[in-house]
Order: sequence, then C-alpha cells, then structure tokens
Amino acid sequence: MGLRKKSRRIARRHDPLIPDKNMEGGARLCLSFLRIFVCCERGLTVIEYEGRVFRPPSEAYSLIVQVTIGCSHNACTFCDMYREKRFRVRRLEEVQADFELARAQYRRVDRIFLADGDALMCRAAHLAELLRYLRKRFPECERVASYGSPKSILTKTQDELDELHRLGLEMVYLGLESGSDEVLRRVNKGETAAEIVRAGQMVRAAGMKLSVTAIAGLGSAELSEEHAVQTARALSEMRPEYIGLLTLLFELPTPLMRDWQEGRFYLMNPVEIAAETLVLLENIDSEGSIFRANHASNYVNLAGTLNRDREAMCSRLRAALDGKVRFRNEAFRAR
Ligand code: SF4
Repeated sequence: MGLRKKSRRIARRHDPLIPDKNMEGGARLCLSFLRIFVCCERGLTVIEYEGRVFRPPSEAYSLIVQVTIGCSHNACTFCDMYREKRFRVRRLEEVQADFELARAQYRRVDRIFLADGDALMCRAAHLAELLRYLRKRFPECERVASYGSPKSILTKTQDELDELHRLGLEMVYLGLESGSDEVLRRVNKGETAAEIVRAGQMVRAAGMKLSVTAIAGLGSAELSEEHAVQTARALSEMRPEYIGLLTLLFELPTPLMRDWQEGRFYLMNPVEIAAETLVLLENIDSEGSIFRANHASNYVNLAGTLNRDREAMCSRLRAALDGKVRFRNEAFRAR
C-alpha cells in the first residue's frame, strides 16, 4: 500500500473529529496515541499529541488541541489521567500550529476542546489571544470548551471570565468529585467544596455553560451518606447545566487503588452505590440541570432533567435495590 493511501487510513483511525470506537462508552477517554496523522493536500502533516489525551464524552466530535500539558494539581489519589506529565502551558505559536494543521484538513469544525486537564490555568490574556485567533480562523465553530480546575477559575476575576465568554469560551467542565470536605481532603483534591462551588458559580455568572462531575463511592461506606448529602448540596448551589455522576472504578494504578489493594480503602458494591445515589438524588434541588449517570462506570444508568425527572430516577434506583433492575456487569464497566 502506498504511503499516501496508508496515511489516509491511519488518519481515519486517529482522526480527532472522528470518535474512536473506544470512546463510545462515554468515558473521559484517552486517545492513547502519541501522534495523530492528518493528511492535507500537500502530503502528510502531523499533529503531535503529548501523552494520553482525555476529553469529556460530549466532546467526542470536537477538534482537540492541547493548550496545556497535564494537570496543574495532578495529585488526586483516585486519578491517573496525567500522572506521567509535568504541567506546563504550551506556547501560543505551538498551539496555533496544531490548529493550522487541522484548518488545512477540515472545511468545517463545529466544536473545539482545549486540552489537557487544565487549559484554564493559562493567564486570561493568553486565553483571550487564543480565543481571538480561533474566532478568526474557525469562524464556523459553535462551541469552544475546556476543563477548568477550581484554582484556574478562582485565580481569574469575574471580569476576565466574562471577557473569555464574550470571546467564545462557551463551556467549562469542572470536577466537584464530592461536596464533602472530608472526602475531598482524603482524596487530596486540594480544594474545599466551598471553593469549588464558588468557581462553578463564577463560570455561570460569566454566562458560560457549566458541566460538573461527581464520583459515587468516593467516600467509601464510611462517608457515603455525608458524601451523598453534601454533594447534592454543592450541586444545588451551583445549579450547573449538566451534572455527570460517575462511579469509582480502578483500572490503572493510583494511590487510592493501592489503598484498596492493601485493605485500607473499601470499594463499595453496586447495592451500596445505588443506595448512595438514591440519597444524593433525594437531596438535590437543581432545577433545569440535565443529570446523567449513564457512563460506562455506572452500575445503573440514569438520565433526566432535574427536578422534573428526579422521582423517576429515584424509582429506578429503588427498583434496582429491589432486584428489579440489573446492575451493569463488572466486565462491562469502564472509565
Ligand atoms: S484535578 Fe482532575 S485531572 Fe487533576 S489530578 Fe485531580 S482529578 Fe485528575
């Protein structure tokens, strides 16, 4: 097979705009490739991704470019996403060069996701310049989104966030993980629930859409009720557009996984997770939020709009607890 034909085949397999088959489970999933080949009219050009790249499920069809490398915190005990990377902000010229490769290949780009874990950690002026460039070079783009750590948001003023939204940053994905300060402390999140809530409220006040994730089972059985009640409270205070509930799962080594393997952490079973999720839903008051627990890590799929569908989701969980809804088999769970 000629190089050109072969490279086109590779490009289809690794195309950032064509979701990889592995991504369909909805995981914050990694492309797992060091290189993504892009064929352009003049031959073979290459966008080089540094290490594994993650994105939220709803960014499956987005053009993904690394604005930063890694996560500025990189110390949560349950997370292996950026362990191998040392956080840094990429130079604007490098980032723009990647976007230019994509521009040469794609006539239409509807969505752009700024990777890695903490693109909002860039200074506001740096992000503003990037957003101005994107508006010029991808005028058809409908949505630019990014992960945002609480610190990256709280180190900006409300005026700066307002300006970033005005320049095209439409959506921020924020990890709450838990509304319990004790759970956050144990998993070394590095932020309190109040700080995370404040960051989320600033994003919403700027007019951006906010998507927040929490993790069922993160407090183990010992803190399960506190985790559920306080997470419901924190989510209610932010009232994000989207709430994603994942379930704790160990795949690659993390400090928390080691604690579990050595008997210091109890991993909750499906019945306990369903009971915890029921407490969370019974306590949440987040009118209009789209709630999803239909990720491959979850034992029971739930989806609805709060508060309208809360009772239906609670009923489904009660049915699961009564043995009338089957839990997802462990073999089919994934991040
Ligand atoms: S802040 Fe997010 S990406 Fe960074 S270590 Fe924690 S969970 Fe992982």
